Amino acid sequence: MRVPQTWLDISADDPFGPAALPYGVFSTADGRPPRVGVAVGPWVLDLAAAAYALDAPFAEAADAAVLNPLMAAGPQTWRRVRSTLTAWLSDPAYEDVLRPHLVERSGVRLHLPFEVGDYVDFYSSEHHAANVGRILRPGQPPLTPNWKHLPIGYHGRSGTVVVSGTEVVRPMGQRRPPSAQEPEFGPSARLDIEAEVGFVVGPPKPPGGRVAVADFAERVFGVFLVNDWSARDLQAWENAPLGPFLSKSFATSVSPWVVPLDALEAARVQPPERDPEPLEYLRDAEGEPWGLDLRLEVRINGHIVSRPPFRTMYWTPAQQLAHLTVNGASLRTGDMYASGTVSGPGADERGSLIELSWNGAEPLELPDGSTRTFLQDGDTAAITATAPGPGGAVIGFGEVSGRVLPAQG
Ligand code: CA
Repeated sequence: MRVPQTWLDISADDPFGPAALPYGVFSTADGRPPRVGVAVGPWVLDLAAAAYALDAPFAEAADAAVLNPLMAAGPQTWRRVRSTLTAWLSDPAYEDVLRPHLVERSGVRLHLPFEVGDYVDFYSSEHHAANVGRILRPGQPPLTPNWKHLPIGYHGRSGTVVVSGTEVVRPMGQRRPPSAQEPEFGPSARLDIEAEVGFVVGPPKPPGGRVAVADFAERVFGVFLVNDWSARDLQAWENAPLGPFLSKSFATSVSPWVVPLDALEAARVQPPERDPEPLEYLRDAEGEPWGLDLRLEVRINGHIVSRPPFRTMYWTPAQQLAHLTVNGASLRTGDMYASGTVSGPGADERGSLIELSWNGAEPLELPDGSTRTFLQDGDTAAITATAPGPGGAVIGFGEVSGRVLPAQG
């Protein structure tokens, strides 16, 4: 694989270089409605306008305020769009036609890139699950008996998925402090982040049947970053017996750029060894592993606090989708699922503050001299990621960030 060339002036190490070409939805200050764009270097290409100008067959699928029609069109269309974009951006003959449809990325507003269908959040990092088990269930086995047999997950709230940059109001709720007999009500005192990777479904699937591990790339349009904001005090009180509810449902932030799976060929790696071997429907397709070498960074107020490695995830996104549909559940275009908190084996590779501060026992020090166990009002949490691309290129994911606003009682 080699790096695609382009007549645009883009530095070789630009994470939005011609090997990436992520999709998003943008608007400009001229008041025109949001529309589909492709990030390339410091620009956004207005995809439908360019496609109409060059009579490309996918113009109608791209002519929308969300990515859903393009995602629903399926993998053959996705590959045609991507190869066409590469041709346009590499052949100087297209420059005069395309220039008017490139706008500076720094001047656009980015929107939620797709209409979210259902939202499932998994729990597939062995390091994260074991850390949380040790913190919350000391003296017991860190993993529950089912953990290595299936990707644990729960259904989240799709209506509160918000795009990066949206401010997040500290949730109110019930919690019962360890020393108390009765619950109390108030703003969460233990607001946390969870650094995760998200996946979005393209073509729908009717009820019955399932998506095989081997069919992942035919069904999933792309990859983005997720911050699964979590109120740990609310979670601790409400979690048993049915799992997370209001401790998660107030907001889930996603990055605005969706990186197509085809941009991640060079990032595919063998996932960790699975022991015991999972049931047949969860086994990796022969020679087609879907471990991904995504390197995340977590920042609090601009300061890096963690570098979670996605390649250490126990269950791959292909296994997660196979499990999500093994009961015959239908899929809709725009259904999204998140990996679960990404935590590596190292103390500086943990994707949540409950792990980084060991449930508050080991506060983090920030460069301004302050310390954090959990988030304070006014804090900004940001997650970024890159992956290896072809020929030494870097594939960027941009970032998902959000600032915490005080609770509204
Ligand atoms: Ca989560």
